[in-house]
Amino acid sequence: MSAVSTRLKQLDLFLEEPASPAELGAGQEALQARYDSLAAEWKLPLARVVLTARRATGGVITYGPPHVIRVSSHMSAEDRLQTLLHETAHAICFARWDVAEGHSSRFWSIARKLGVARKAAPETERLRRVREANARYAYRCPGCTAEWTRRNPFGRARLCASCERAGRPARLILVRRPKPARRRAAWKR
Ligand SMILES: [Zn+2]
Ligand SMILES: [Zn+2]
Repeated sequence: MSAVSTRLKQLDLFLEEPASPAELGAGQEALQARYDSLAAEWKLPLARVVLTARRATGGVITYGPPHVIRVSSHMSAEDRLQTLLHETAHAICFARWDVAEGHSSRFWSIARKLGVARKAAPETERLRRVREANARYAYRCPGCTAEWTRRNPFGRARLCASCERAGRPARLILVRRPKPARRRAAWKR
């Protein structure tokens, strides 16, 4: 319904303020300190903890020496910490077994001991924007005005599922397609 289009508009209003270098620095130091104390407790090798704006959400560990743990700065302080703990659980598994441990049940039991409550990286404003930027096709339902964005076009005509359920079938209309990149390049010359 109209709630959907309102929400789409609101997203545009919440233009993300990039974190200040001071905030990033302090956040990174806090995460590093947390890793260092866990490393002492669990006898882990050194890791460099990096708070980065390049990741839209979550984190990743690159095994060392030294390990490098990258945590997305586009998350709340609590989710940043959750991510650090998740990656630290990977470091523990790596020390005990090997990389191939992945997200096994042994991994999750260690993660829980560290205080990991989240099973997946959180949705972030940044992630939504990346997805938006990658979505090249947009469809709108003329019945309820809901919109969908997709990387690839639908192969054939689609009906809006909720309007169909409500007994008034409506065919989605294509409202955005990729811009012709070649013509724009030629115009620049
Ligand atoms: Zn993981
Ligand atoms: Zn509809």
